[in-house]
Amino acid sequence: MARERESLQKLYIEQLQDLWSAEEQILEALPKMAEKSKHAELKRAFQMHYQQTEQQVQRLEQIFGELGEKPGGHKCKGMEGLVKEGEETMTEFRDSDVLDAALIAAAQRVEHYEMAGYGCARTYAHLLGLQEQAQLLQRTLDEEGDTDQKLTDLAETVVNIDALK
Ligand code: FE
Ligand code: FE
Repeated sequence: MARERESLQKLYIEQLQDLWSAEEQILEALPKMAEKSKHAELKRAFQMHYQQTEQQVQRLEQIFGELGEKPGGHKCKGMEGLVKEGEETMTEFRDSDVLDAALIAAAQRVEHYEMAGYGCARTYAHLLGLQEQAQLLQRTLDEEGDTDQKLTDLAETVVNIDALK
């Protein structure tokens, strides 16, 4: 059992490293996405999520501290790919009313990717008896979910409709 616990803890730390790298990459991408957004509400949503993301990074760093670990040394290639694809789409639909719809499509991929990662990490923390860490990760998971929902609402009520005009 002790051995299994050790390797679950190892997996947990690897997942946290992946999430930390993902968040760092999003912190670079979000200001560009906000800048490109035509709809003021979408711009605000990206700006607000930037601030949330800064807090999410702090939560991860708090967890690393508690585990006696340091973040860094690993690059999340999944997020690298999502950001790259997002950039390609932004170039493709530049100066068009479809751009905001494309930004939302890219951002929702990012949120779902994060939700998968945080859901797994939260469950590992729980299994390892690290309940406060599980709660911190759950808080981030909720924020990613809320952001995804907000993007869906914006797409369905405004952005996709304008993209059709
Ligand atoms: Fe995040
Ligand atoms: Fe996010």
